[in-house]
Amino acid sequence: MKYTVLSLFPEITDAFFAHSIIAKAISRGIVTYRSVNIRDFAVDKHRTCDDAPYGGGPGMLMIPEPLGKALESVGARNRLDPEDGGWTGIAPRVIYLSPSGRPFTQNLAKELAGEAELILLCGRYEGIDQRIIDAFVDDEISIGDYVLSSGEAAALVLIDATYRLVDTVITSASLEEESFAGGLLEYPQYTRPEMYGILKVPEILLSGHHENIRRWRLYKRVEKTLALRPDLIRWGEETGLFDEETRHIIEVLRGTGGSEGET
Ligand code: SAM
Repeated sequence: MKYTVLSLFPEITDAFFAHSIIAKAISRGIVTYRSVNIRDFAVDKHRTCDDAPYGGGPGMLMIPEPLGKALESVGARNRLDPEDGGWTGIAPRVIYLSPSGRPFTQNLAKELAGEAELILLCGRYEGIDQRIIDAFVDDEISIGDYVLSSGEAAALVLIDATYRLVDTVITSASLEEESFAGGLLEYPQYTRPEMYGILKVPEILLSGHHENIRRWRLYKRVEKTLALRPDLIRWGEETGLFDEETRHIIEVLRGTGGSEGET
């Protein structure tokens, strides 16, 4: 996976790639990263990248020329270019991080992790000129229903959630039971010591009985998801995501089925 980040402050995202698992993925050649400073493509001597919006209103907007040139420099396709008519190549997917975008979810992260390259465009001020979206952007993506002051933090959220899903970056076993896998949140986890104050690790986890532990964990996943994210349970039911064992636990916990003892 190749990440290309376009920003007025690339040093913000550069720092992320120097540490931990992503730095390892880069040294193994599984992930590559480049950042581009949009200001390097400014067309006047003051290196201007923003201007007041037509029609009035508060704040400034990122102007189109530096953005367009920066995008073209990294291989983004300009759909409105009159010379683009016979274009048949594969262009990298261009994403503009925006509060108006479609919501970023684990499923979308999985989809994006399958791309060979993502170009991530970070906005500032009141955002970017609409013509850049019309000409270059394939997806507008929002990381949540709130407004950040800039797109870099949103780009990092998207990068962090996707690179770890790229094949071999982390072991697939680690991904199988974590939150959102199979439509459920993760089970509660414990490590040493066995006693923390008056709180003891649940007995079943010390039993060494793998099947009982598996069942307990599934029960806890369903219980936690029903309590904290009933919308995920409803979605899993509607889409037929759950197996019989999971459906049975849901029924038990809703009090509509048989009884299942929690260990
Ligand atoms: N005027 C814009 C609006 O009301 O939708 C908000 C612009 S915001 C202050 C500046 C930049 O932050 C945006 O261009 C975008 O890149 C980024 N941003 C803000 N909130 C975001 C969110 N929830 N998800 C993704 N990017 C966001």
